[in-house]
Amino acid sequence: MARILITGGAGFIGSHLCDYLINKGHDIICVDNLFSGSKNNIRHLLSHPYFEFIRHDIIHPLFIEVDQVYHLACPASPIHYQYNPIKTIKTNVIGTINMLGLAKRVKARILLASTSEIYGNPKVHPQPETYWGNVNPIGPRGVYDEAKRFAEAMTMAYHRYHGLDTRIVRIFNTFGPRMRENDGRAISNFIVQALKEKPLTVYGDGSQTRSFCYIDDMVSGIIKLLFKESDKTFEERTNKANFLYKNKEVRNTNFIHDPINLGNPHELSILDIAHMVLKLTGSQNRIEFRPLPADDPRVRRPDISKAKELLQWEPKVNIEEALKRTIQYFRKKFGIETSRS
Ligand code: NAD
Ligand code: UDP
Ligand code: UDP
Repeated sequence: MARILITGGAGFIGSHLCDYLINKGHDIICVDNLFSGSKNNIRHLLSHPYFEFIRHDIIHPLFIEVDQVYHLACPASPIHYQYNPIKTIKTNVIGTINMLGLAKRVKARILLASTSEIYGNPKVHPQPETYWGNVNPIGPRGVYDEAKRFAEAMTMAYHRYHGLDTRIVRIFNTFGPRMRENDGRAISNFIVQALKEKPLTVYGDGSQTRSFCYIDDMVSGIIKLLFKESDKTFEERTNKANFLYKNKEVRNTNFIHDPINLGNPHELSILDIAHMVLKLTGSQNRIEFRPLPADDPRVRRPDISKAKELLQWEPKVNIEEALKRTIQYFRKKFGIETSRS
């Protein structure tokens, strides 16, 4: 049994991690400021003897003793991370430094939740981990993309300089139960609109693509990554010669400490997704086209070869099944009893 800190543990992905790990018998400390998360996501865990919730903003230092850290705290939806752009940067910069400092002090393994957004509007498709990305640093998405890129750079610096046992997961679009009704992301918007008999809002002409992963698959990948033993000893991690060698072109990027993509490679256009939601909800609603937000990536699809090889992981839940489960969740939440799908 490990003592595990989950930052952002009351959010969408974090709360599913809490559930999974508590069921495995671990001792969980969930730290969250409830900016975009909710106590409702963890309410069923609050009376569990091995679950502890701390309302805390990670831009302030935190001193606790743990064996592992899952660092997820950061709003993920564009409307939430753009609501207070400076706070988004501080959470990823100061908050990440604090969590790395904590992990260093207690010698804990730490996983950083990074994102496919670090690839920006990609010019390489699909995106392998070796692609450096195409990000507009000063656009509205830059506050998230660049802050996550900083968080990756800092995590690698603590790994190389302090020998910290780090993991970096680049999460591609993930969805499922516990997404907020007003989350603002495509799938939750479409499902909520379909169930509430409102037009489905497709931005642009809907030809932009995303590759959506179901939450259960994402959780299993993240867990596998954190529990995978380091492929380097402490000495190797801090070996200067190795570090210099690694910075040459021959650098091997297949280490467990280098970033790793997790996501479902099944790529669909946003318009296709809207039509699937209409079909699966049995909704007769129409589609309403709205302006495309600035810097919205044209395409996105993970190359998951590294995850397959290193973690023996690949997603199992197909998009139709995943949508059905998420629709069912929102139906229940809204008290809609019909069995139209
Ligand atoms: P979420 O918004 O549901 O969860 C984030 C949690 O972090 C929330 O509970 C929020 O209250 C908390 N938080 C935010 N700022 C904080 C702060 N300063 N101090 C303490 N807590 C804070 O989002 P999510 O979808 O669960 O995303 C979790 C992580 O995964 C994020 O780091 C996000 O960048 C990353 N990610 C998610 C996706 C996705 O598709 N869901 C894709 C790529 C990356
Ligand atoms: N920190 C923290 N909890 C800890 C240890 C450190 O929040 O248990 C914070 C600490 O306040 C500092 C940051 O993490 O701002 C980085 O710590 P580190 O020791 O790596 O760097 P330094 O304090 O030397 O700048
Ligand atoms: N999108 C849309 N309608 C919505 C919400 C989003 O057409 O109501 C589009 C958005 O412009 C983007 C895609 O769907 O092209 C995915 O958006 P989301 O916010 O879910 O994820 P991200 O853009 O962060 O990948």
